[in-house]
Amino acid sequence: MRKLFIIALVLVIVLVPSFFIAEKFFPAEIYIAKSLLTDISENSFPYSKNESNKANCDLTLLAENGSVLNDSLLLINENHPLPENYSPELIDLGGVYINSCAEESYHNLADDIKDLYGNSIYIMSAFRSREEQTEILESGNEYAASVDSSEHLSGLAIDVYVKYYAGMGFLDSEEGQFVNSFCQDYGFIIRYPYYGEEITGIPFEPWHLRYVGLPHSKIIAENNLTLEEYIELYIPEEIYYYEDYFISRQKPGNIFIPEDFSEIVISPDNTGYYFITGKQ
Ligand SMILES: [Zn+2]
Repeated sequence: MRKLFIIALVLVIVLVPSFFIAEKFFPAEIYIAKSLLTDISENSFPYSKNESNKANCDLTLLAENGSVLNDSLLLINENHPLPENYSPELIDLGGVYINSCAEESYHNLADDIKDLYGNSIYIMSAFRSREEQTEILESGNEYAASVDSSEHLSGLAIDVYVKYYAGMGFLDSEEGQFVNSFCQDYGFIIRYPYYGEEITGIPFEPWHLRYVGLPHSKIIAENNLTLEEYIELYIPEEIYYYEDYFISRQKPGNIFIPEDFSEIVISPDNTGYYFITGKQ
């Protein structure tokens, strides 16, 4: 009888938290992104895409005029490796380097976690050079991507942990659950989500954050997408609206930027197009 009681108790201890986590990470309601994006594109377009609105623009010049040119939407995978001459703009976060475009968002996320739980979040690995990635591959790490297909080469990927909770164990911490539930509010996505292995080819990595910026991170998370699927949803040269944002994916050269939007961010997507994001 006592044995039975102990078994029941163990089952309750093990099953109740896992049910809670499952509830948190497998939302019942799944939106279909395609229709969401179509709805956005069907909003009235106050801006006509006529030639006078288009400037045969020089991307460096645009960057000087207050637009930001960054790497935030680079698709990096085995089919889309980074060019050999690629080298990101990095910021030193006390010995680890991240892509400068992710710095502010990372600080906001880390500060909020500290305020909420009193604990610091740490970076296990962020930017990795070609040499470092080669060493990891040679050591037989099953998670490591081939050299030019590694998001770590861009500094946009940040592997995080909290004290005592790293790797899959990160999800057993409140901080890890917070990161996995809300990182999209800060411009990050879980790049290899539990639902994405068939598409990314990489199993769930709850510790590997990838900066994509707002509102892209929110759309991806709200619709249970992978970055691969997200980028493909955009019909080139079409204009999409999401909340206060303007998004379009355009060929380099003639880039269309509506005048009434500010905070313009331009990022190549590593598939031959540029993402233009603006805020009203
Ligand atoms: Zn990683």
